[in-house]
Amino acid sequence: MTRAVEQLAYLVAAVLFIFSLHWMNTPKTARRGVLAGVAGMTLAILATWIQPQIVHHGWIVVAMVAGFLVGIPLAMVSLTAVPQRTALSHAFGGLAAGLVGTAEFYLWTAEESEQLTHFRMCAIVAEVILGFLTLTGSLMAAGKLQEVWWIPQRPVTYPLQNVTNLGVLCLAALLGLSLIAQPTAAWAVFAFPLMIVLALAFGVLLIIPIGGADMPTVISILNAYAGLSAVAMGFVLDSKLLITAGALDGASGFILSIIMCRAMNRSFTNVLFGGFGQVQAAGGQAEQRAYKVETIEDAAEVLEQSSLVVVIPGYGMAVAQAQHRVRELYDQLTKRGITVKFAIHPVAGRMPGHMNVLLAEADIPYSDLVEMDEINSDMPQCDVALVIGANDVVNPAARKDQSCPIYGMPIINADRARTVFAIKRSKSPGFAGIENELYFKDQTYMLFGDAKTVVGDLVKQLSGDEQA
Ligand code: NAP
Repeated sequence: MTRAVEQLAYLVAAVLFIFSLHWMNTPKTARRGVLAGVAGMTLAILATWIQPQIVHHGWIVVAMVAGFLVGIPLAMVSLTAVPQRTALSHAFGGLAAGLVGTAEFYLWTAEESEQLTHFRMCAIVAEVILGFLTLTGSLMAAGKLQEVWWIPQRPVTYPLQNVTNLGVLCLAALLGLSLIAQPTAAWAVFAFPLMIVLALAFGVLLIIPIGGADMPTVISILNAYAGLSAVAMGFVLDSKLLITAGALDGASGFILSIIMCRAMNRSFTNVLFGGFGQVQAAGGQAEQRAYKVETIEDAAEVLEQSSLVVVIPGYGMAVAQAQHRVRELYDQLTKRGITVKFAIHPVAGRMPGHMNVLLAEADIPYSDLVEMDEINSDMPQCDVALVIGANDVVNPAARKDQSCPIYGMPIINADRARTVFAIKRSKSPGFAGIENELYFKDQTYMLFGDAKTVVGDLVKQLSGDEQA
C-alpha cells in the first residue's frame, strides 16, 4: 500500500515539476510555476519520508530545520543578488549529490560490497565527479559575482590552461574508471578521495578563466551539471523521481545556457574557454571626449512633445530599483497621449528575464514590453529613446567593432532614434568594460545621476508642468 502511494505521489510530483517549468516560461504564469515546483517537492519529500525503511526521523527534522535556517535568509536577497544566490543553491545541490555518492560507496564497501556492481559504480563516479566539481565551480562563481575580495573578478589565464584543466578532469575520470573496474580493491579506499580532490580542483580551475559578464551563462551550465549529478544519484538510490527531476533540471540548464549564448552571439566553447569579460580600464579616451548633458527641464519638454518614446531599461534600473518611478513616468506620458514602449533585450541586467520581472513588479502592462527584434524596426520612428541604466545592450560597437568583446551581440538600435536620453551615474563602462559610442552621438544627451532620482525628477517636472 505504502509503495503504491509512494509511486502515485512520485508521478504527481514529476508532472508538477514539468508544469512548473512550463509555467515559468512567461512572467504571467511564473508565480504559478513556482508554486507547482514547491508543491511537487513537498509531495516528493513526504512520499519518501513515509517509507518504512526510514527510521531516523529525528535527523530528518534536524536537517530540515538547518535547511530552513539557511534557505529563508537566502530567499530574502535583493533581485540584483539573485545570480550569486542561484550559484549558491547549485553548490548545495552539488554537495548533496557528492556526499550521497561518497556515503553510498563507503557503506557498500564496508557492508555489502556485492552491491557495487559496474553499473552502480558508474553512477556513483558520475555523481561524485559532477557533484563536487559543481560545488567548487558554483562557489567560485558566487564569489566572483559577489565580488569577494580574495577571488579575482577578472579572468585569470595562464599558458597551457585548457590542457591543464583537461588533464585534471582526465585524471579524475581515469581514477573513476579504475574504481568502476575494481571497486573493492584495497587501493580503492584511497583512490576515491583522490578522485574527489581532483573534481573539486577542476571546479575551481573551470571558473577562474571566466569573466563576470559570462558568469550567468556559466551558472546555468553548472545548473545543468547539478541536474546531471542528481540523475546519477537517482540511479545510485534507484529513485525514478530523482532521475526525472535531475533530467529536467539538467536539460533546462543546458537549454537556458544555449539561449543566453545565442542572445550574446557566443558559442558554448567560447564561453567556457574564451576568457571573455575582461574589464578594460575605464576612463582614458572616455575622459577626453565630451558628453552633452541635458537638464531635467529640457528633457521633460522634449518628452512631452514626442509621439513615440521607447524606454530601454538595463542593469542600472535594477541597481537603482527605479521601476516604480519608471511606472510613474509611463503614466505621465501615456496620459498625454504619448505611446510608450519598453524595449527588452534578452540579456539586459544580470539574469534572464531580469527586466520583465522588474517591470511586472511595477505593473507595467505586458503589452507594452516589446522584444528586441520587434522594437528595432520601430526605432527610426522613435522620437526619444530613454536609456535607463543600460549600456552594453545599446552599444553600437557590437555591430561593427570586431575587436570588442561584445562584437556580434544583437543590440537595441537606440542610436537610430531621433533623440537619445541616457541615464547613468558616471562615465563608467557597462559590464563588458568598454566605452559606448552611443553616448557621443549628435542626438545623445546624458542625464547623469542615480536612475531612481533622475526618473523621479522627470516625473516631478512633468506633473509640475501639468499643474502650471
Ligand atoms: P551594463 O552594460 O552592465 O550597464 C549598466 C549601466 O548601468 C552601467 O553603465 C552603469 O553606469 C549604470 N548604472 C549602474 N547603477 C546605476 C544606477 N544606480 N543608476 C543609473 N545607472 C546605473 O547593463 P546592460 O546594458 O543591462 O547589459 C547587461 C550586460 O550583462 C551585458 O554585457 C550582458 O551580456 C551581460 N550578461 C547579462 C546576462 C543576463 O542574463 N541578463 C547574462 C550574461 C551576461 P554607471 O556606473 O556610470 O552608473
